[in-house]
Order: sequence, then structure tokens, then C-alpha cells
Amino acid sequence: MSLDLPLVRGHVDPAVALRESVAPGALVRAGEADVIVVDPSGFVLLDEAEAPSGAPVVHRLVGDEATRALEGATASFIGVARGRSVVAIETSRDEARGRWEHLRAVGWQLDGDDAALALTALALAGWHVNYRFCPRCGAPVQLVSGGWAARCEMCDRLEYPRQDPAIIVLVQDHDGRVLLAHNALWRPGFVSIIAGYVEAGESPDVTVAREVAEEVRVEIETPTYVATQPWPFGRSQMMGYRARTASPRPTPQADGVEIEWARFYSRDELTRALESGEISAPGRASIAYALLREWYGRDLPSGPDGAGRN
Ligand SMILES: [Zn+2]
Repeated sequence: MSLDLPLVRGHVDPAVALRESVAPGALVRAGEADVIVVDPSGFVLLDEAEAPSGAPVVHRLVGDEATRALEGATASFIGVARGRSVVAIETSRDEARGRWEHLRAVGWQLDGDDAALALTALALAGWHVNYRFCPRCGAPVQLVSGGWAARCEMCDRLEYPRQDPAIIVLVQDHDGRVLLAHNALWRPGFVSIIAGYVEAGESPDVTVAREVAEEVRVEIETPTYVATQPWPFGRSQMMGYRARTASPRPTPQADGVEIEWARFYSRDELTRALESGEISAPGRASIAYALLREWYGRDLPSGPDGAGRN
């Protein structure tokens, strides 16, 4: 089974060569772009109705509606999908505009290029709201290159969208049981696999072993890289790994600060814990879910009230 990463389904040509000269607002006014709308906190505007397949559909603004939406908003050139330029309008979530959903919740259901478009739009939007001033001289910056760069008005310094490298690792013991941990900041019962940021100057392969040792005091053998998924809620680039414990059946010891508790689960134990609602698992758009699903062999079971499905 190959790893199913919902947020990177579909294909968007980043059309990098066009960025220098493109004016997103002009494309919208000329009716030459598909226009989608995002809220930098992670929400995307959807059609009121779903597709015949039942999939939610990212809303496209047209005509005057698109032109009006430009007022007071940042517009970015996302790329080219199905031969059409796509522009994202970044605005605060206004319920009067229609149906908003968080990409983290709805991303796994989107068809075609919708997830990839929304992902890119949110990665840019998140950078735009947080990168307003030059880190060297403190003057305001101007977005250039269709939103893909920012130039300092004072010292001309150019900056590009940032992403923070992070690792996430599915650890198994020698019985094939999977390590799950509960972070102190999460809702009760919510568990996931071990994750953490790559430190300055650190190789991600080293981060994997360090994070597992720090958080649950378990030693692992050399980890295997699996796949990467951007995660724009924050601005992470999540690099997924698999690893086996060094000793056959270690007992995880939570650090008590970041990780409140951790333990290994067999497939049967995980099934029972999820079905009873004792624990809940990561949402389906996440790479954590994808790695767990691959280990489990099929979709993870729902809780008693159908909870934990997104
Ligand atoms: Zn500057």
C-alpha cells in the first residue's frame, strides 16, 4: 500500500517563470483566473453544495463577486491548474460569504486539485500575515512576485516563504506494536506518533532518534524515510519516518512535560481503544494518520459516536 497523503493530491503547476511578471489582481479583474478564498488561520471557502461524488468543492468566485473580493485583501498567484491560472484571495473568515471549513478537517475529502490549491494558498497566506516587517531593519515589506517574495521598502532585502522542517515517526517494537503518545496540550485521550522540529544545523535523521529518546526514552534503530507532507497550520514540512525499537519490547517513559503518557499498542488493542472512545487518533488529512493507516492495513476505526474521523 502506498502512503496516501490527502493534502498533496492533485497537481498544481507552480508556473515559477510567470511569478516575476504576474499581477494577481489584474488577472482577476480580466476574468483570466480561477479565484479561491482562504482565511490565513487555515479555513477555505467551499461551495454550498457538494459534488455528485459527495466530495466538498472549493468555491471559485466569478465576475463582480471576484473583483469585489479583491478590495482590502491580499491576492496571490497560486499557479496553473488544468490550464487556468489560479489566484487566492486572503481574507478573514466572513460567514456571510458562505461555507468555510478548516483544511485540516476537510482536506482528505477534496477531489482533483482542490486540496493542493488550498494547501498552497494557506501556506502563502500564513506567511503573509506573519511576515510584515524586515527582520534586518524593521521597515515594512511589500509583497512581490505574485506573493511569492517580500521586499523591504527600506533596505531592499528579499525574503521568501518559510517552512519549518519537522519529523514524525511511526515506531514499532519487535512484536510490531505501534508507539502512541499523549501530549500534555492535547484534549484528553487524543494520541499520535512522535514528532518534533529539526533543530538548527541538525539532520532530520538525527532528529528522529533524538525526539523519540527525549519524549519517551526509547532507543531506535536507524529510521527509514517514507514521505513528506507540508502542514500549513503553523508552517511545518512534515517528514515521515518509520523506525524499529533497538530493544525488543521497551517500556516508554514519558518525559512528563511535553508527553503525559505513552505506550505500545497491538492492532487489536488499538482497535478496542479507538472503538470504545478511550483514545482518539489523528485526523485523516495528516501524515500521522497516513502512517498509522499503512501500519494498521486499512482505515482506522471510528469512536463510539463516529468521532475522530477528521
Ligand atoms: Zn530592511
